[in-house]
Amino acid sequence: MSKQFDVVVIGGGPGGYIAAIRAAQLGMNVACIDEWKNAAGGPAPGGTCTNVGCIPSKALLQSSEHFEHANKHFADHGISTGKVTMDVAKMVGRKDAVVKQNNDGILYLFKKNKVSFFHGRGSFVKAAEGGYEIKVAGAAEETLVAKQVIVATGSNARALPGVAFDEEHILSNDGALRIGAVPKKLGVIGSGVIGLEMGSVWRRLGADVTVLEGLPTFLGAVDEQIAKEAKKAFDKQGLKVELGVKIGEIKAGKKGVSVAYTNAKGEAASLDVDKLIVSIGRVPNTIGLNAEAVGLQLGDRGEIVVDGDCKTNLPGVWAVGDVVRGPMLAHKAEEEGVAVAERIAGQHGHVNFNTIPWVIYTSPEIAWVGRTEQQLKADGVKYKAGTFPFLANGRARALGDTTGMVKFLADAATDEILGVHIVGPMASELISEAVVAMEFKASAEDIARICHAHPSLSEATKEAALAVDKRTLNF
Ligand SMILES: Cc1cc2nc3c(=O)[nH]c(=O)nc-3n(C[C@H](O)[C@H](O)[C@H](O)COP(=O)(O)OP(=O)(O)OC[C@H]3O[C@@H](n4cnc5c(N)ncnc54)[C@H](O)[C@@H]3O)c2cc1C
Repeated sequence: MSKQFDVVVIGGGPGGYIAAIRAAQLGMNVACIDEWKNAAGGPAPGGTCTNVGCIPSKALLQSSEHFEHANKHFADHGISTGKVTMDVAKMVGRKDAVVKQNNDGILYLFKKNKVSFFHGRGSFVKAAEGGYEIKVAGAAEETLVAKQVIVATGSNARALPGVAFDEEHILSNDGALRIGAVPKKLGVIGSGVIGLEMGSVWRRLGADVTVLEGLPTFLGAVDEQIAKEAKKAFDKQGLKVELGVKIGEIKAGKKGVSVAYTNAKGEAASLDVDKLIVSIGRVPNTIGLNAEAVGLQLGDRGEIVVDGDCKTNLPGVWAVGDVVRGPMLAHKAEEEGVAVAERIAGQHGHVNFNTIPWVIYTSPEIAWVGRTEQQLKADGVKYKAGTFPFLANGRARALGDTTGMVKFLADAATDEILGVHIVGPMASELISEAVVAMEFKASAEDIARICHAHPSLSEATKEAALAVDKRTLNF
């Protein structure tokens, strides 16, 4: 006997679970299917983000940052600790507990919002009754029918061709988040967000970390001035990044992993490490969805093809998050989930791709919204730039972290903010002011005229806005 719903969401990551909750808030009868299992085989909704992505990585970043502070910076405050040690098993256990709190939180939210949750794999069976029949293969098999289906099946880590993840020596993000002891030598292939964050965790805990990057520039998507400042800080910390390499043969044995590569000068080189994290991007996931059964169109990268409104080629079938085009970010997935639920309800859900913030949670943190200086040049836009260093910010001095700067880019004629780029302490939090400002089409002068609390890091944001007009007060 099939169960009827207004909306069935396949995938319970940030795209899927948020879409399900919003649809339920709008009065629809909603089911959400998610197959992620915790260690005991029970449901673990929240997807990559909650289980092996955003949340656990930030838990480990926090623990390792505390460790680094205790080891290197407490003494500056007059605190002596003696030898500081790290119990890696306890740190990983804490991370697992944080993940579980989030899994449980989502199950609670489903109950609160009357979303029916099904633990198992959801797959299309056929078009039926003016909608779609979806099979759930889990502990108990179920058949669901709905007129509207939202696919939010996420993404998987991309492996190097011919080099499968064994999660023991060659690690995806999953294995990188549960290394049991600090490796002496750790290799990372790919200096993107995940590579830098994971590399930072284990470097802080004492690993000798080398990051190999194929591209000739460091953090090519980041504003060049900001990326340079970040690179200086990483160099100082001892996080080695080699750019412009070409990866050759990778051999994994009992003793570790050997990576042959050609360096930027074209010379043969090799890197021997205990463990290797491969973080070269992610691929959209439609495994087991049985998209063919209903003729759901996939693109060249395996992504579900959607239009600007997240509509697929099939009436009533939508797709959101990592499984579609656009940045693979949890908050982008959430925004799309909300917008689709609202569109199904006849509202005008909207996602502004120009104001999606990006954050790299290293130390210093890197965060930005809008266009970079190199993009504005390429687009032929006339702009004014203003920067303010944390070195001249009282709160940063009190914190003992004066690395980095805030940078504003504003239209030369109208002063509208076109991009804000931050490298420094709490950049992840500071960037939201810039996102709000850009969403409201504010000018740099608007920010410069707003009262910011003193002493606070946000004063650097105000000062960078003042710098656009060459009138900083504290630098
Ligand atoms: C290490 C790491 C750190 C990250 N850090 C950040 C960060 O700090 N900030 C940020 O914004 N983003 C971060 N991301 C990216 C973020 O995790 C993704 O963008 C986000 O999870 C995408 O959400 P989603 O809902 O599209 O897919 P996912 O989170 O991947 O969720 C998809 C869900 O669908 C389930 N599923 C798939 N197929 C089926 C099926 N057929 N039936 C039932 N269930 C199915 C999966 O099991 C999974 O639970 C990080 C990623 C990684 C790997």
